[in-house]
Amino acid sequence: MRYVSTRGTASVLGFEDVLLAGLARDGGLYVPEEWPRLSAGDFKALAPLSYPALAARIMAPFTAGCLDEDALATLCADAYADFGHPAVAPLKQLDDGLWMMELFHGPTLAFKDYALQIVGRLFDHVLGKRGRRMTVLGATSGDTGSAAIEALRGRDAVDVFILHPEGRVSEVQRRQMTTVDAPNIHNIAVEGTFDDCQDLVKALFNDHAFRDEVGLGAVNSINWARVLGQIVYYVRAALALGAPDRDVAFAVPTGNFGNIFAGYGAREMGLPIPRLICASNRNDILARFLEGGSLEARAVEPSLSPSMDIQISSNFERLLFDAYDRDGQALDADMTAFRRDGRLSVERSRWHRIRELFAGFRLDDAGTRAEIARLYAETGELVDPHSAIGIAAARAGTEGLACPVVCLATAHPAKFPDAVEKATGRRPALPDRLADLYDRPERVERLANDADALRARIRDMVAK
Ligand SMILES: *Cc1c(COP(=O)(O)O)cnc(C)c1O
Repeated sequence: MRYVSTRGTASVLGFEDVLLAGLARDGGLYVPEEWPRLSAGDFKALAPLSYPALAARIMAPFTAGCLDEDALATLCADAYADFGHPAVAPLKQLDDGLWMMELFHGPTLAFKDYALQIVGRLFDHVLGKRGRRMTVLGATSGDTGSAAIEALRGRDAVDVFILHPEGRVSEVQRRQMTTVDAPNIHNIAVEGTFDDCQDLVKALFNDHAFRDEVGLGAVNSINWARVLGQIVYYVRAALALGAPDRDVAFAVPTGNFGNIFAGYGAREMGLPIPRLICASNRNDILARFLEGGSLEARAVEPSLSPSMDIQISSNFERLLFDAYDRDGQALDADMTAFRRDGRLSVERSRWHRIRELFAGFRLDDAGTRAEIARLYAETGELVDPHSAIGIAAARAGTEGLACPVVCLATAHPAKFPDAVEKATGRRPALPDRLADLYDRPERVERLANDADALRARIRDMVAK
């Protein structure tokens, strides 16, 4: 499998190099040169497999040339062994035609574990093979950071620097990052928003000399392997509900567009997915785009669902690349203008193509609380604010659809206990393995929103 950049000029790379590169040298994101297609018969043969076995089969065509299928199966078995539910990603029926897939049974209780547990092992495998070290640099709006730290703690060949926006992640999220006591883990609280953190990461990746000097690698969903690890559960849910003989739609609480883009990937591989509902909080740039065809960045506003407090959804570029008929140069010009002006009007025909599959949805904090309360009253289920937005989107977005809709529950309710308690009067408890989280000591450094300061900090630590 070969990968091309969405900006059209970076080298075409194989899986291993894409895994280590993160962002492409031309500032673009890597996507498969061609999606592997499975037949209906192929999909049916996957239906009885366990989650880890399915993961290995789905990932195999994408990782071909990096590791053989037996090695991949071993890594997948190991990656999902410690998840807190035997089904790994269980499905629950909430209402007629409405299902929820729980993606919060990994070590850090958010869906990011599903990809990062395997990505951490892939890093190990490839770095070991090449005798190399890497410096992972990532920005987090809360959940990526802890999932990456958990996946990479104590690994010899990797130093990890995770930036989070100071005061804008929940206490559970912060503690899950800052209480990990491993010498290769460095937490940095940036005075700014998540978009500021993401811009710092991009700035350092675009400094090619620095990038080579410290061997920068990415764990954000700009890294293709993240998206890859997420395709698996879309396949899982669709097969469980009758695909490939029956359509299955998805509603996805969305921030950086990485999760929902994996749903697009599952569809490109041949699953009958007629609709992907992109659910936003008040930071609704994608909902506004789907309504009007123009991307317009506004200031990020904090909400009850901080992992979706994003205005510049980096993975959206992967979708635009296809809507632009893979014309990387045209996309490069438009994305550069968007970064400069904060505004981009996409040609009507391109916008229409996106709208054929994607529907937008937005919900403010009051609506989010109301959905948490409604679901609890009707079913007894406690859900976190992100998942609640997905559920509300699924309820609203089923018009004209005669198929099941699966909303992805992206975080455990105990990650956001205050919001859940306020809406329901019940405080969700952390699973046993995290019960002492509030007693563990924290380790974190503060840093100004300044690329030079960050560069210096990383140089200093990596030299030690
Ligand atoms: C990261 C995250 C999201 C957003 O996912 P994207 O892939 O960035 O769109 C939604 N909900 C939770 C709980 C998250 O951690």
